[in-house]
Amino acid sequence: MMQDSRSIVVLTGAGISAESGIATFRGPGGLWEGHRVEDVCTPEALAHDPELVHRFYDARRAALARVEPNAAHHALARLDAEWGGDLLIVTQNVDDLHERAGAKRLLHMHGELQSALCAACGAHMRWLGAMPPGSACPACGAAALRPDIVFFGEMPYAMDTIERALGTADLFVSIGTSGAVYPAAGFVQGARHAGARTLELNLERSAGSAFFHETRLGAAGSLVPHWVDAMLAG
Ligand code: NAD
Repeated sequence: MMQDSRSIVVLTGAGISAESGIATFRGPGGLWEGHRVEDVCTPEALAHDPELVHRFYDARRAALARVEPNAAHHALARLDAEWGGDLLIVTQNVDDLHERAGAKRLLHMHGELQSALCAACGAHMRWLGAMPPGSACPACGAAALRPDIVFFGEMPYAMDTIERALGTADLFVSIGTSGAVYPAAGFVQGARHAGARTLELNLERSAGSAFFHETRLGAAGSLVPHWVDAMLAG
């Protein structure tokens, strides 16, 4: 039974923040906030049109001030606070709604809007305002700051930690993710191979649905609190 699981890995995607008013990745027309993914989410885009890429992430960063965590973020934060076993929440999201709800055992595998990365020295730093192209790095002085977002073709963060957690998980739960973006889309197979039960909570069947032991369809704002209540009651 799920309730016997001691070690849990939760993967979240854009769908968990949808009810907070943040657009998912590939909405109607395959665009993200009106932009083709290739135009704002690749190292090539950053090299060829830094103005556009920086403006895009500046707008996403500014939009965080107008949204709040929803019931699903709050439920995961409650699981984090009250679950006595191991827990790792891995988010593909670049918003800060998990931490604003109070989650602590959290990793941002695709970076964070409120962080800057120096392309020259590799320093990461908290960044809350606009980031014009050519902003100087406070650590090394190079005019090389970029949004701390993992673009397509770049290596996601903390993969060692994530792989280790997947290898010892009793339960893997995927919430609000389309299963289209690797390596996250492959976590279910890794966890299952290592012996975990696997559960998907999503609005619709994802590309990887067949790999899960169980899929529950619905909005994260109702499915996640219900699942967390059951876990903590067990
Ligand atoms: P995705 O947009 O590809 O898929 C979102 C999934 O969530 C879909 O399967 C959809 O059916 C489901 N969904 C939509 N509304 C839901 C709801 N209310 N409850 C439950 N499920 C819901 O997103 P992804 O799989 O996370 O992959 C795309 C990438 O997009 C990630 O790498 C992420 O960095 C980036 N992204 C992040 C944000 C954010 O930080 N909030 C927003 C957009 C894109």
